[in-house]
Amino acid sequence: MDSELRDRVERAARTHALLNAVKYESDADVGAVMGPLMGENPEFREHADEIPGVIGGVVSEVNGLSDAERRDELATLAPEKLAELESEDEGEEHPLPDLSNVEDGVVMRAAPNPNGPWHLGHARMPAVIGTYKERYDGRFICRFDDTDPETKRPDLEAYDAILDAIDYLGFEPDTVLRASDRLETYYDHARELIDRGGAYTCSCPGAEFSELKNAGEACPHREKDPEQTREEFEAMIDGEYSAGEMTLRVRTDITHKNPALRDWVAFRMIDRPHPREAASDYRCWPMLDFQSGVDDHLTGVTHIIRGIDLQDSAKRQRFVYDYFDWEYPEVVHWGHVQVDEYDVSLSTSTIKELIDEGKLDGWDDPRAPTLASLRRRGIRGQAIVDAMIELGTSTSNVELSMSAVYANNRDLIDDGADRHFFVRDGVEMAVDGGPDAGHPPVHPEHEERGRRDVPVPGAVLVEPADVPPTGERVWLKGFGCVRHVDDGFTYVGDDIAAVREEDVPVIHWAPAEGGVPLRLRTTDGDVTGVAEPALADAAVDDVVQFERVGFARIDALGDEAVAYFTHE
Ligand SMILES: [Zn+2]
Repeated sequence: MDSELRDRVERAARTHALLNAVKYESDADVGAVMGPLMGENPEFREHADEIPGVIGGVVSEVNGLSDAERRDELATLAPEKLAELESEDEGEEHPLPDLSNVEDGVVMRAAPNPNGPWHLGHARMPAVIGTYKERYDGRFICRFDDTDPETKRPDLEAYDAILDAIDYLGFEPDTVLRASDRLETYYDHARELIDRGGAYTCSCPGAEFSELKNAGEACPHREKDPEQTREEFEAMIDGEYSAGEMTLRVRTDITHKNPALRDWVAFRMIDRPHPREAASDYRCWPMLDFQSGVDDHLTGVTHIIRGIDLQDSAKRQRFVYDYFDWEYPEVVHWGHVQVDEYDVSLSTSTIKELIDEGKLDGWDDPRAPTLASLRRRGIRGQAIVDAMIELGTSTSNVELSMSAVYANNRDLIDDGADRHFFVRDGVEMAVDGGPDAGHPPVHPEHEERGRRDVPVPGAVLVEPADVPPTGERVWLKGFGCVRHVDDGFTYVGDDIAAVREEDVPVIHWAPAEGGVPLRLRTTDGDVTGVAEPALADAAVDDVVQFERVGFARIDALGDEAVAYFTHE
């Protein structure tokens, strides 16, 4: 790269590094700068090897500045971007920008690969598409791009798990398609493409073709006549070749400046049968760019959202669209979404491995960053959708903060959640005197929902950290004030002034006998304890609040009740 270009890269990188740092009030990182930089400056792409090094230097300089210095510099370099950031801070703009070219309707698709149930990051696509569908009265297609039985092998249970997840998020696709049902359609389009001179069969070993391609040279098969290609393609369909022996390539531009676009593979042979019975006889499989490109057109998709790292897809597919005289849909590129709080990464294969190794109990293990897990924990799909929408669709990488999901969810569930006591690892304290039961409210803001009846059978359980020093008092919530004497508590009275004026701590408790043994499953592992007897009257799926512990969804009732921790 020459020094003039280097200057341009440095300037653009500096703006993005400043933006990133100011936006998140933290240090910038190279990955977050790379995406938008390449997105806005396609001409930088051919220097993709050198650019991270340039960005690295810029990022470390920016990270040496104070927040105020960063803002000042950004105000000079890109005042309009700073203004945009500040108005976002004030929440004035809708986080999802309007789509362009919507006059003829809006049809969008989520195109999951069903190689596993969805993790949290997958919620972003249906959240955004579903929201646009509502805004434009459009259509939402769910298309399973399941045409790779080898490396992204479909998981038969994932199809329904993904549809369940979309339902959980509050959306219903207008159409559900499985690409593995549509092989004949792809074959027909390949035949037509061959007739139009847009494809040729090629038996070059992959490495050999690569070498030629990288040198901008055609392989010997490029100029064969369409008839021979037709014959060989039919033989591919008939399964007469093994994996690696024959491909069908799209004839693009063998000297194109981006080698990734040169004569890419549209179909290849895969020996391993597809796991779906209906597709198990096929051996000739389309590559994703061909399959999804054809499907997007045939199903009338008007707007595509895809990752900024997949910009080449549209460029590859445009060659096919040009052969067919089709109009390419509008494309919105967005950055990656990451999620804080979890130890497990947002990766289907990683989660699958951990389950296989027994380190997670399943896709709905509370430690797994999956939609099945959040659902089991009592988090409403709406809470996730709202948090995803807030992230917008910019080309920067974004981080989903679980605290935002939890805050949304708290607003949704708090009112309906009955209060209960749950004492973890309780110590038994005898109680001398006082009434024979406590009566805390079912819900502090809804006196009309009545009061609970928590018996005091001569002793209570309290959490070890809540036991006051001997001689000191605590307030057993709903019961009254007690003092710690040698062998337990003695009742002092029910004058609330002790709490209001003398700062006596209010604690939760459970009866020493007759409570409900409970296992609370949390993101940090299981905790056990005893809940008040009324929990036995709750129903599975109820979300309750264990006072001073947090919200939880009742998962099972019985000798030992099980609840999944929702959030505080
Ligand atoms: Zn060849």
